[in-house]
Amino acid sequence: MSKPMKHAWLTVDLEEWYHLDYLKGYPCRETGVRVVPLIYDFLDMLDEQGVKVTFFCVAEIAQENAGLIRELIRRGHAVGCHGLDHELLTEKSLEQFIAETAEARALIEAAAGAPVTGYRASCFTMERDKLDAIRELGFTYDSSKIRFAQHPLYRNLDLAGFDRPADLVYTDGDFCEYEIPTLELFGYSIPISGGGYLRLFPFWLLRILLGLYARKHENFTIYVHPFELTAAKLPLPEGLGRATKLRCLVGRRGNLKKLRKVIRWLTKRGARFSTLEADRRERGLA
Ligand SMILES: [Zn+2]
Repeated sequence: MSKPMKHAWLTVDLEEWYHLDYLKGYPCRETGVRVVPLIYDFLDMLDEQGVKVTFFCVAEIAQENAGLIRELIRRGHAVGCHGLDHELLTEKSLEQFIAETAEARALIEAAAGAPVTGYRASCFTMERDKLDAIRELGFTYDSSKIRFAQHPLYRNLDLAGFDRPADLVYTDGDFCEYEIPTLELFGYSIPISGGGYLRLFPFWLLRILLGLYARKHENFTIYVHPFELTAAKLPLPEGLGRATKLRCLVGRRGNLKKLRKVIRWLTKRGARFSTLEADRRERGLA
């Protein structure tokens, strides 16, 4: 039996299904189909489990769903920034990124009626100069670091000069970076913390993988997206490859139930769920 876990952070990238990188270039937005307004079952499940979540919101989503954003704040969740348009940070100049991030934050704060202090880069494409820039802008935490050697999109963010006071937590002064973990197995990084694998793996397998993870870690971060929290039909464009279709659709039905089981498993193992904002405060950094 491995030692108990300490913290679990459930995070949601609050974006539409058409923001997925592999659907870019298709006219998905024009279909009018939206999944963000369908996350209320998820919110009720969180209330039932007593779990508070960090939502990283794309600015246009906040504009379209201001009522929902206020509801998130009312239920005790934290709202951070997930960019102006969900384009990859690696395709933006530093100047463009700074201007857009300031604009995105203002739009999300207007919807939330609360300050926005956290950031997550689209597809985890954070780079060091942009991390330094969001600190300059007054953000106090970020969660864009992921170790995932096989995936070309996900870089390993350079955190030179940061301390590592706890598992998955990096600090420099009062700024915090929260890592999204992968399970290192046979030289591969298995992304058990979110995305397609979390949907693909049955719970019995996830439980085994989480057990292996818990042998070496005491904290865990999960990331999910609204389209993974509802089984509502997505009008995927014609001409999409089979593999991409599978990536979009696999495991959506039943995913909410599975997520509840993961939450219970982590809680049973001693992990306490909180928002990243609350965690940073508890570390005495606010
Ligand atoms: Zn995203």
